[in-house]
Amino acid sequence: MSTTDIPAGAVVTAAPAGRPWEAGTLPTEQVGSLPRPAALQAAVLDLEIGVLARDEFARIQDAAVRDTLDRLIATGSPIVSDGEQRRQSFASYPLGADDLDEGPVFAVFADGHHRVVPSISAPPFRFQGWAADDVSAIRPLTDLPLKQAVISPSMLSLMVPAEQAGSSVRAELIEDIVAGCAEDIQRCFVAGASRVSIDFTEGRLALRQDLRAPWAGPAALGGFIELMNAVLDRLTPEQRAATGVHTCPGNANDSAHSADIDYAALIPELFQIEAGYFLMQAASEKDPGRVARLVGRELTALAGAGREQPRVLLGVTDPTSPRLETAEHVRDQLVNAARFIPAELLGSTDDCGFSPYLIDEKPRHGSPDYARDVAFAKIAARVRGTQLASDHLSGGTQ
Ligand SMILES: [Zn+2]
Repeated sequence: MSTTDIPAGAVVTAAPAGRPWEAGTLPTEQVGSLPRPAALQAAVLDLEIGVLARDEFARIQDAAVRDTLDRLIATGSPIVSDGEQRRQSFASYPLGADDLDEGPVFAVFADGHHRVVPSISAPPFRFQGWAADDVSAIRPLTDLPLKQAVISPSMLSLMVPAEQAGSSVRAELIEDIVAGCAEDIQRCFVAGASRVSIDFTEGRLALRQDLRAPWAGPAALGGFIELMNAVLDRLTPEQRAATGVHTCPGNANDSAHSADIDYAALIPELFQIEAGYFLMQAASEKDPGRVARLVGRELTALAGAGREQPRVLLGVTDPTSPRLETAEHVRDQLVNAARFIPAELLGSTDDCGFSPYLIDEKPRHGSPDYARDVAFAKIAARVRGTQLASDHLSGGTQ
């Protein structure tokens, strides 16, 4: 079934449940994006200025997707994706041409560059593109389980013009955003995704006070969490169990936007989101072990409150650094984390998508093509190291 067969706005209650976690082994999965080849980045710009034919562009894009899939499979990853090769960014795919005017500053990164969010126009707000389209495109290309990342309702809420604060227009747009995000996730499952994760990069950023991005603040984080739960509430329990939330300090041009925010302020709030699992940046923290300790404390608190404990996939590789992690290093991070997080709730991921924005020079790596090679090597180390940790924790070979 193609996702395009589903009428827009349909409530997809019959969507498949996603994929349950395999018992006895630590799960591992990528967040979402992989660096686009330099040829694809150049082709996007050439298409924009009209010096490249659309069918030639499609050929270059398809080749990038195929290459990504082949190389991801070669890492031994148990779950794969297209690495967002068809996307301009993790956040732009639902928007239409009318929504692309530049809005407010979203984030100022540590290297000094900044990104803005678009501004969405008057209600109704309807998704113009679905994450599920990427799932449908690769479903025939592999038998492996598929993972898909989706935009958060909180990111879309930042695109509602500030002058609408408190108005009925804002309320209407927010309702459209929540409905659209829930449908976006459900369509991914219908298209054949086993797991879906919501990019929540703005969660940690919300705690950063910066006059250049005045939307942020503790009240913003509370509002974001309400929006996330409103979306998750529209899923079936099975779909929610297979839906994750990704948190990170941002990643563009190998630079972060909120690594200076203390994780201890975010983590208790984060676990108020009723997702099935979390994908949490940890490897690039000054003290990755502290993340596991903080997470372990919150999981205990959730159990004490009678709440369900989510699965936690900890970041064991740093996508902003060309330095390769070894499988043994990954194993040791996970074995250490298992002192605080029960092994049956633990897993691994990368700290972030490797290139959340299509145009990404990956300056610390020297070039996008080299960054691609590095990304696949890091993923291979994560997959192998996670297997070593599984063996270790189950008392098998070390
Ligand atoms: Zn991220």
